[in-house]
Amino acid sequence: MGVERMFFPRPEEERIFVSRTPVEATCPKCGSTNVARYPVANFIGPRMVTKCQDCFHHLAVEVPADDDHWPPWRAPTWGWSGTRAG
Ligand SMILES: [Zn+2]
Repeated sequence: MGVERMFFPRPEEERIFVSRTPVEATCPKCGSTNVARYPVANFIGPRMVTKCQDCFHHLAVEVPADDDHWPPWRAPTWGWSGTRAG
């Protein structure tokens, strides 16, 4: 993890949006090939989802890898082992 994950500048874009990366897959529920992978934040924390964009069926829900850069911020102690006190 580099410093760029701890400090990030104020956005310069007028509107902020999530980029959805198209994935070559077929939805098992509706048969659509309009499938995308993108970051979400839900009740179990940050995740990368692969979802059908027509019926929103989940094809995959994954813990983000370092290359996903999600979430854009991380605590400086991310990945440190905890103590018995927590
Ligand atoms: Zn579908």
